[in-house]
Amino acid sequence: MPSYRELLQQTKTEIEEVDARGAQELEGATWVDVRRHDEWDEGYIPGAIHIPRGSLESRIETRVPDHSKPVVLYCASGERSAFAAKTLAELGYDRPVSLAGGFTDWKRNGSEVALPRTLSPEKRARYSRHTLIPEIGEEGQLRLLDSKILLLGAGGLGSPAALYLAAAGVGHIGIVDADIVDESNLQRQMNIDQILDDGWEIVVDGTDNFPTRYLLNDACVWRGIPVVYGSIYRFEGQVSVFKVGDGPCYRCLFPAPPPPELAPSCSEGGVLGVLPGVVGTLQTNEALKLALGIGEPLIGRLLIYDALAGEFDEMRIKRNPDCPVCGEHPTITEYVDYVEFCAR
Ligand SMILES: [Zn+2]
Repeated sequence: MPSYRELLQQTKTEIEEVDARGAQELEGATWVDVRRHDEWDEGYIPGAIHIPRGSLESRIETRVPDHSKPVVLYCASGERSAFAAKTLAELGYDRPVSLAGGFTDWKRNGSEVALPRTLSPEKRARYSRHTLIPEIGEEGQLRLLDSKILLLGAGGLGSPAALYLAAAGVGHIGIVDADIVDESNLQRQMNIDQILDDGWEIVVDGTDNFPTRYLLNDACVWRGIPVVYGSIYRFEGQVSVFKVGDGPCYRCLFPAPPPPELAPSCSEGGVLGVLPGVVGTLQTNEALKLALGIGEPLIGRLLIYDALAGEFDEMRIKRNPDCPVCGEHPTITEYVDYVEFCAR
């Protein structure tokens, strides 16, 4: 049986080893740091991603799906990365290379070192269920802690959404419950603009009336803020994501509000008590995916939940090139009288 030294020598003959300069010349390469957490925390090579050696096999394909591009692996000295390079070759990567001398030599040569932002031990413990998921990890959790999500409406949909956004660790949650559509047109422009000026990245729509919904849509189209839409009525719930540039807006789907007699509000038509909880948490799920940049958000898709049947249905929705707000030649480019627009 070979000793560790012999095994290392043997492995090094089977893999490609490059020095720092050679590694930097590899075009389109992904740099992967395979050291332990505590080593990474003390500094890493800028631009590298962190996959500890112990989870390399299970995580590399999610983090580096392209097998054809070079992968530069490094550890502290070039030993663990040599074994890692062999593993990646076995997994079908075309050109895994090991950085000779590792991070120690990199640092010794005076090359640039980045310091990671890390979760405090307390937060690491609190969000461990998230950070255990490879798609989220500590990086994703830090992103959530930095994210700014606005809830418009703190009623049935907004309340469960607020609860789960806070539990997920979203760092900045805004809740606006005031009826932002009021009698004066000037007033409502100022209100929505003042609210959105706070730099919200995502809006969760928990509004319960059409004028506010159209106002929110227009404001968010003009500002490029994605809106997580949700609506409930009796036994039915709907969820979608309106993200300008990637899919339709609310007006593409509903160019005009339905006549009042066909669209009674929940206070008039009723709603099953649990439905806001179902739809509000589905909206939260979409908001978290958008904040993390993972998964397939409900862009261009309307998810319909039938509580009586216990069924989900999905409708494909397309951007309307003639949409008056997000279309090719928009005709609505500033705020209109939304109360009047919805009363027509
Ligand atoms: Zn549109």
